[in-house]
Amino acid sequence: MSTIHTAKAFVKGVIGRLVFRDATVTRAEALGPHFRRLVLGGPGLGGATWSPGDKLQVFLPGVGTRAYTPVRWDAAAGETELLAYLHGEGPGARWARDARPGEQLQVFGPRSSLVVGGPEPRLVFGDETSVGLALANGANRPAVLEVGDPREMQPVLEALGLSVVTLVERGAHERLVEAVARALSAHPGAQLVLSGRAAAIQAVRQGLRARGVDLGGARAKAYWAPGKVGLD
Ligand SMILES: Cc1cc2nc3c(=O)[nH]c(=O)nc-3n(C[C@H](O)[C@H](O)[C@H](O)COP(=O)(O)OP(=O)(O)OC[C@H]3O[C@@H](n4cnc5c(N)ncnc54)[C@H](O)[C@@H]3O)c2cc1C
Repeated sequence: MSTIHTAKAFVKGVIGRLVFRDATVTRAEALGPHFRRLVLGGPGLGGATWSPGDKLQVFLPGVGTRAYTPVRWDAAAGETELLAYLHGEGPGARWARDARPGEQLQVFGPRSSLVVGGPEPRLVFGDETSVGLALANGANRPAVLEVGDPREMQPVLEALGLSVVTLVERGAHERLVEAVARALSAHPGAQLVLSGRAAAIQAVRQGLRARGVDLGGARAKAYWAPGKVGLD
């Protein structure tokens, strides 16, 4: 780890003791080979103001923070829920893979990121890391997700009750643009919310513009990019 990263992790550790919320993993379950649902609870999560699309940063000692998207937040009970994609060997993915009930941690947030849910219709674009965002938007609301393995992903979506999702295998940007364009015409007036892999967001934006689609109200947030760590 570089000196800058070590210094950042140290500063976050100091700040963390002042502003982070204490939480405990109360439930951890596999939804598929690369997906886990993690329920966090505790008095520290009470009284928070959460809006669908907000992010929560999990503090990993010696590393820094990793961002996840709460699916729900019960401020009265002090409970929230995350859906973590186990992409590989990053510290966040390792934490999500190994988390067990009873494990204590510190989290920072919820803090604003994208806006979903609410009365306005919204179409979520993203990938495996955006399943939480899609669910926070609403189980019956549309989403287009680029994924490594659609066959592995389908049962995960079914278990979560996400019913209006188009899956596109990662790598085919033209098919991705086509799927988003179709979903937009099937849901006229729906505002586009783009998340997930940075290059896919860019490709979808460019592709839709090239087709003359008006992206006026679209909002975007890159959740990850190859070689970058801990985007928030
Ligand atoms: C606002 C926000 C909300 C997010 N919400 C969620 C969420 O609800 N659920 C969730 O699972 N993720 C979510 N993410 C994405 C997650 O924070 C990143 O995937 C993060 O990089 C994981 O941390 P890590 O320590 O495992 O990997 P890092 O140490 O951050 O990254 C190491 C390397 O792993 C690779 N990598 C990172 N993510 C992926 C990926 N998804 N697929 C393939 N390779 C990858 C990259 O090459 C990267 O350089 C969110 C991100 C943001 C910014």
